Amino acid sequence: MKTRSVELITQPTTPHFVGDGFRVHNFIPSQEGLSMQRMDPFIMLDYNSPYHFAPSVRPKGVGVHPHRGFETVTIAYKGRIAHHDSSGGGGIIGEGDVQWMTAGSGVLHKEYHEEEFSKKGGLFQMVQLWVNLPSEHKMTNPGYQAIKNDSIPKVSKDDGKVEVEVIAGNFEEERGAAHTFSPIYLYNIRMKSGGKLELELPENFNTSFLVLEGKVKLNGQEVLEQNQLALMKNEEGEIGVQAMEDSLVLLLSGKPLAEPIAAHGPFVMNTRAELMQAFRDFEAGKFGYLD
Ligand code: MN
Repeated sequence: MKTRSVELITQPTTPHFVGDGFRVHNFIPSQEGLSMQRMDPFIMLDYNSPYHFAPSVRPKGVGVHPHRGFETVTIAYKGRIAHHDSSGGGGIIGEGDVQWMTAGSGVLHKEYHEEEFSKKGGLFQMVQLWVNLPSEHKMTNPGYQAIKNDSIPKVSKDDGKVEVEVIAGNFEEERGAAHTFSPIYLYNIRMKSGGKLELELPENFNTSFLVLEGKVKLNGQEVLEQNQLALMKNEEGEIGVQAMEDSLVLLLSGKPLAEPIAAHGPFVMNTRAELMQAFRDFEAGKFGYLD
């Protein structure tokens, strides 16, 4: 069996704050080698590595802002996030839960630390990923998938030393919890030290691993430390993941949409004209209203 090799390993960037509630390392698209085009259909990846927030009566976060043309995927690992949007939706993303929001034709929303978590303070860890929509679905109706951890299929491997949480796509006979508009695999891989997993993903799918906790070895040779991301080459072959410590790894693998990208701030469209239209529609109040 051929081995699919590593193209690039990147270091986490210096963290910055999104609003006052999310202290993130950006990977996609600001890191060299991780452009929207190379990582297609993944167009943004922010990682809030574990960070202790002091108690705050006023929940920290990011105020009302729009999105159009893609999906935002929020994965909470530690702490809880509250969200509200202009279509009347809202909810709480608890530890282990995933919120898959289809912005589609447009929403206004806000994202904050959940009130009780905010009052107590504590360790906060989350990922926000933006998944591009195929042009034919960019103006689809907005929607939510509030995916609780207990509804995410889990597959145990290597005598229980590895557990794969199938957020999207298939893993063996299990089907991921999320509906997606293009073929995507998104897994949380929880590994005990010494645990091993072999993965084979379509060679044309852009595939990367982010180590959230611990340390792993890829293909028995490349060491991937905590907060590092490995981008795999687009070639046929299996990828071996071996935990050198108890580890938590996020796998992203998606079929490229291979369409033009016109992106600015919270809007990701195919053409500049569509981007200008998004700004006009936003200014005209067509994204609805949110306090
Ligand atoms: Mn947002």
